[in-house]
Amino acid sequence: MFDLPAQRAHLSEKYDLSPSAELAASMEDIYARMSRVVSPMDWAIYAPYVKVINDLKAERNAVVLGHNYMTPEIYHGISDFGGDSLQLAIKATEVEADVIVQCGVHFMAETSKILSPDKTVLMPDMEAGCSLAESITADGVAEMRRRYPGAPVVSYVNTTAEVKAASDICCTSSNAAQIVAALDSDTIIMTPDQYLAQNVARDVPQKNIVWWEGSCIVHEQYSASDLRDFREWNPGTRLIAHPECPPDVVAEADFSGSTSGIIKYVTDEKPEKALLITECSMASNIADELPEVDFVGPCNMCPYMKKITLEKVLYALDTMTGQVEVEADVADKARLSVQRMIDLSRKLGI
Ligand code: SF4
Repeated sequence: MFDLPAQRAHLSEKYDLSPSAELAASMEDIYARMSRVVSPMDWAIYAPYVKVINDLKAERNAVVLGHNYMTPEIYHGISDFGGDSLQLAIKATEVEADVIVQCGVHFMAETSKILSPDKTVLMPDMEAGCSLAESITADGVAEMRRRYPGAPVVSYVNTTAEVKAASDICCTSSNAAQIVAALDSDTIIMTPDQYLAQNVARDVPQKNIVWWEGSCIVHEQYSASDLRDFREWNPGTRLIAHPECPPDVVAEADFSGSTSGIIKYVTDEKPEKALLITECSMASNIADELPEVDFVGPCNMCPYMKKITLEKVLYALDTMTGQVEVEADVADKARLSVQRMIDLSRKLGI
């Protein structure tokens, strides 16, 4: 468990982290990336943390990988690279840094460690989990194999290293349909997201797809009737859903795609009004780049992602605590599943 008061005491002894309008003004270039969604008053609070973290990164030869669901002060203030979980893990292998600070949830840090075993991977809050990753263990994968003998197991990247190690190949929400379609088997086991599996089953009708009953607590909350009501009350709004949403929600939307797919769609289409049916920070993080788009409507927050704060990132980098380790034999098997996905995606040109 985190001892927040002790962390705060440690940080305030070493650094001046009091709000500063002067410092905030001197970092106007960073603020410009989030000025539509972060008030000047909040920026004056964040700026001292952003300055100290960015200085420490240089000292430690560290990079920060920020998931699309991070808050704007993390995504734009301290992240060297932003993206979805797989983009970040691949980026972890490419950077020269000694230290990776994973601003996301625990399975993402594990994936970075699996792909970059020689780098130190820091997780600012070890309790930042994921309802999907926690829904299945390696025993669950074994149970599915018993139920469907001979069927290959395709596991979403939102899984623990142990589950990846027990699977045949991984997938992301952007390549799941193509990966499944390319496998040489009529029956395919997909874990752990039942809704992603059902959405893939609709797109790949030639396969018999069976699934584990996991779900994302953020995306399962949306309903098709919510979307119909919203469309009626806000005519002209483009509804854009993540494929972790239930299939009837996806069917009701104008477009469905992974977080990177959503960003590309909104950037290319520039709809006048858009409702992103996904985690709240997605819209916040692209709002300043797309001033012509009015991001409207309700969103759902991921409580796991929101465990990552500037304060926790600073503490992890300062003390080098929160190091993520994956046992070598598990990492070797898990790496095979991830690498098979990367290789197949390249072969398929996706
Ligand atoms: S948004 Fe859903 S899938 Fe992503 S980390 Fe949160 S619970 Fe997991």
